[in-house]
Amino acid sequence: MPDRTLDCAEFRARIDGFLAGAEAGAAFEAHAAECGQCLERLLDAALAHPAEAPVPAGFAARTLARLPAAAPSVLPYAIAAACLLFALLAAWALHTGLLFDAGRWLAGIVARRPVLAAIAAFEIGGSFVWAWRAART
Ligand SMILES: [Zn+2]
Repeated sequence: MPDRTLDCAEFRARIDGFLAGAEAGAAFEAHAAECGQCLERLLDAALAHPAEAPVPAGFAARTLARLPAAAPSVLPYAIAAACLLFALLAAWALHTGLLFDAGRWLAGIVARRPVLAAIAAFEIGGSFVWAWRAART
């Protein structure tokens, strides 16, 4: 028996049945392919009532197992590099005598601006505490 064509009203009347799983037929598919307004109505209805798909058992575990391993932390290397740089600068400052000039310069700052010196000392000390705690985690 040849499948007759559908008009827009007949097509839209079958949308709910189609989304519920009923056989739509070739005329339904042909109308959806030719009529943009009805296709849009069908898509809107499909999006308004998305099918509930069961999550397979173990899906979360398999997904997590496929994730790449966390990258190793570079923090210990960064701290070691900073310590090495600090030691090299200190050795250079001692060798050139700049450290003693810097000591006199810092002593002048402490004498003239004690609050600023206290804040700077607090910041530097806090940085060392932060680096120490970060290295332990
Ligand atoms: Zn139509």
